[in-house]
Amino acid sequence: MRLAVRGPILSVVICVSGFAVGQARPFPGPDVQQIYQRLLPQIEKIPAFDHHAHPGYSDDPDVDAMAAPPDASAALRTRDDNPELAAAAKALFGYPYTDLSPEHAKWLLDKKTELKKQLAGTAYFNTILDKLNIESSVANRAMMPDYLDPKRFPWVFFADSFMWPFNNEHESARNPDEGVFIPLQEKMLRRWMQQENVTKLPARFNDYLEFIVRVFDDNQKKGGIAMKFEVAYFRPTTFTDPTRQQADDIYQQYASGGTPSEKDYRTFQDFIFRFLVNLGGRLNIPVHIHTAVGIGDYFNLSQSNIMNLESVLRDPRYASTTFVMIHGGYPLEREAIWLAAMKNVYLDSSFGELAQYPAAFKETLKMWLETFPDKITFGTDCFPYNQVLGAEESYWLGAESSRTALAAALAEMVSENEITEARALELAHAYLHDTAVKLYGGRVH
Ligand SMILES: [Zn+2]
Repeated sequence: MRLAVRGPILSVVICVSGFAVGQARPFPGPDVQQIYQRLLPQIEKIPAFDHHAHPGYSDDPDVDAMAAPPDASAALRTRDDNPELAAAAKALFGYPYTDLSPEHAKWLLDKKTELKKQLAGTAYFNTILDKLNIESSVANRAMMPDYLDPKRFPWVFFADSFMWPFNNEHESARNPDEGVFIPLQEKMLRRWMQQENVTKLPARFNDYLEFIVRVFDDNQKKGGIAMKFEVAYFRPTTFTDPTRQQADDIYQQYASGGTPSEKDYRTFQDFIFRFLVNLGGRLNIPVHIHTAVGIGDYFNLSQSNIMNLESVLRDPRYASTTFVMIHGGYPLEREAIWLAAMKNVYLDSSFGELAQYPAAFKETLKMWLETFPDKITFGTDCFPYNQVLGAEESYWLGAESSRTALAAALAEMVSENEITEARALELAHAYLHDTAVKLYGGRVH
């Protein structure tokens, strides 16, 4: 409709902005492989900004504010017997074997130990980023360690724990996964209290909210660039809109003891969640939200799917808050991309590239690139699984999968007459680096 109004200027605009002239076709041509071969090396040369990752050593408990429940099911490609992880170790460390049997894995362990000695302090992980051509990587961690260089690993801190200040017996007892997750939220809240020299929950609700603001101010001073919610793991992501008085009444009743009913607890949490979202707008701290399936057999996808957040995301009261939908709603990424119609909503593709093989992830990226290409960002979701399979191999798998799937998606779009190769490279720069970096107003690069 808008195009028709523009009339004669349209064809000029199309040529100048680099779109292919002519009609798009429904199949790629025989040139698609060649286009892919041309694009891939150029895409590999683009220094990336990893918008979601958990870098760190496997014995570092601060790589996340929660932990995987024991014996959780893992999707095929994310199991630790995935042979691609041996390819990762080969690419990064010259690993000479094709499997990760315990005898062979020892080689890898020794190699890493030796390298960590050679590359002391922050040099080890900086070198990993260099090898993968990642300029900077978000560190979504409970706290930052001294072995990650803050210039290359900007901190994204966790905000969930402020929603669990009361007695959590009922919350932890809901299922075995919550029995692991909720105590870790309590621990995180205690750490924020320690940080602010608060020994017990303030008696007044107003003082509790002020304590939260102080944590955010201090985290920002410590280099925190964004807040992250993993709330989908702990409760449904449908948020009602209670008044401050309602939350205050519940706080007064339970701050000093007693176990709130589930209904009261949710009402209180709904208020705190909206308070934090608002605070993110006020302090210019983007809000990252986990929006995919999650680890743990009890993760409830229908109660925690990304579309539950729609009423919050499309609420004009939060127009000054920047939202990043971590993991892009996977496996609902097709619906999720339409949330990016909101000017302040972005989608991160991390985990999609690990849960799916590149052939399938290519389809995700292509559909996103064809809808809101200026609203999508790259992330690896790297994580140290164990001593052998570290954040290093996981970085490699995420970066390689994303770059190859991106090159393939763009090659098809070029071959199908949707865009030119020049435009394809602009879109690659935006996805791998520029779009995310712009969200932080010069604080990252
Ligand atoms: Zn993550």
